[in-house]
Amino acid sequence: MEPAPVEPADVDRARLAANWAEVQRRVAQACRAAARDPAEVAILPVSKTFGPDVIRAAAALGMRRFGENKVQEIRAKAAPLADCGIDWVMIGHLQTNKARDVARLAAELQSLDRLELAQALDRRLRLEGRTLDVLVQVKTSTEPSKYGLPPEQLPAFLDRLAGFDTLRVRGLMTLAIHARDAAQIRACFRLLRELRDDALARGHELRRLSMGMSGDFELAIAEGATEVRIGTAIFGARPYPDDYYWPESGP
Ligand SMILES: *Cc1c(COP(=O)(O)O)cnc(C)c1O
Repeated sequence: MEPAPVEPADVDRARLAANWAEVQRRVAQACRAAARDPAEVAILPVSKTFGPDVIRAAAALGMRRFGENKVQEIRAKAAPLADCGIDWVMIGHLQTNKARDVARLAAELQSLDRLELAQALDRRLRLEGRTLDVLVQVKTSTEPSKYGLPPEQLPAFLDRLAGFDTLRVRGLMTLAIHARDAAQIRACFRLLRELRDDALARGHELRRLSMGMSGDFELAIAEGATEVRIGTAIFGARPYPDDYYWPESGP
């Protein structure tokens, strides 16, 4: 049984606005510290577990893309928010049998991690007559439970993906190890950047690096993130524990 997205009785707009301003400030500061242009680093607000009223309030603050890690939640929220012009970004593990919903509803998928899923998406996208921006999710930590393609399989996988003209491969995505040691976390982000640079050198036009979350985005920006996925720091603590939403995959 899936818990329904939660809607507080009253959306705290002032709090949301303050959190959003603070996240933008911290991202800009991390960019300056890394001698990077803040325009190079996008923020993807992650709205999983929050309901349409919260997301509508966020859209009113200027947020337009929202990350969700369950396609069921995109399905539940897309209709009531149809007037907001939102781009839904799927960032969670996607079962092959849910490819159709992504092909219909998502602007982008950041968790492409296997050929079987690419084939299913390609079939559905052809039926819809559209293309989809995708990032390949790479497993950069040794934790047994994280989803993602093993790094050594990336070159061959990218070569295969080049054969799907419905899938526009824009970059790579990862979740860092859940650890206290900043050096271990940074090593995950650095590995993703090196894999991206190798892919570029092999002629793949993919530039984006989606890495870093509320707890570690400064490290990700220092290692070259072009996009950080921020949930808690914008929307507050989630109403259900993450393992409800994020089985086997992380902090
Ligand atoms: C939930 C989630 C995030 C955001 O996590 P926070 O720690 O709340 O910022 C980022 N990426 C993925 C894949 C997620 O599922």
